[in-house]
Amino acid sequence: MNYFFNPVNLEQWNMFEKVKKIGHIEVFLATKDMKLNDIMILHVGNQLKNKESGIYAWGIIVKEPYILTNSPKDYCNNKLSVDVKILYINYEEPVIKTSEHKIFNQYRRVHKLKEENISKLLNLLPVNFFQLPDKQIIDTIENNDIQIQNNNFTVAERNIIAKARIGQGIYKERLVKKFNGECCICHLKNISLLIASHIKEWANSDIYEKGDVNNGLLLCTLHDSLFDKHLITFSKDGNIIFSNKLSEEDKKILNLKDDIHINLTAEMETYMKYHRDKLAK
Ligand SMILES: [Zn+2]
Repeated sequence: MNYFFNPVNLEQWNMFEKVKKIGHIEVFLATKDMKLNDIMILHVGNQLKNKESGIYAWGIIVKEPYILTNSPKDYCNNKLSVDVKILYINYEEPVIKTSEHKIFNQYRRVHKLKEENISKLLNLLPVNFFQLPDKQIIDTIENNDIQIQNNNFTVAERNIIAKARIGQGIYKERLVKKFNGECCICHLKNISLLIASHIKEWANSDIYEKGDVNNGLLLCTLHDSLFDKHLITFSKDGNIIFSNKLSEEDKKILNLKDDIHINLTAEMETYMKYHRDKLAK
């Protein structure tokens, strides 16, 4: 998943009037490397006196790049375009004011964000920026947004799955960046085998904790399973602690050595303490 910056030209398309609710789909100028489900960050410049310049909205790409035709009034007409579903908009003021931060290389052209700028952006955004709205999104996301293989799902179920999948995708992206795309324990780099694991379990986390990167570890499927079942945990210093439900033979077969260590920050330790207290006995 990539992040793209897109300047909203309010003279051609006024999102404050056009986007009435979350789920609105709009055409934007595209670059060739855009893919389905990539994130589009929408930035408003200095065109309106009553709107400060900054980031107001984001959405996901729901149709890959194509040439828009036969749309005479659209500024994307005959240009490479993508359809974007708006998933967050703040009509009142920018979530990040341009005047306060210089995150982007330039503000006039649609472009892919560089790694270092994504990290800066994610650090500046409010926690709830990528928190998907519950009710509205279920009301507005169409079933065919994201391919869900099993057709036995009801429309409502599919919507919930689609929403959760987008949210998890973003959370995993953030953890992949934080942990350099490696399992925190064994340093496996195969992304398809890595899981965004919550330290304090997802079900018991509040809205803030669910989206907090400090509550996450990037783990391979094996280590996620051990961690999730409370068979391993970590000390305040980041050293591995084993449950006595794991025998010496288990540890040997699973290649679990006593010197396994992760980098644990103070912010992560709050969650880890919670996890440690639940070590399987
Ligand atoms: Zn691992």
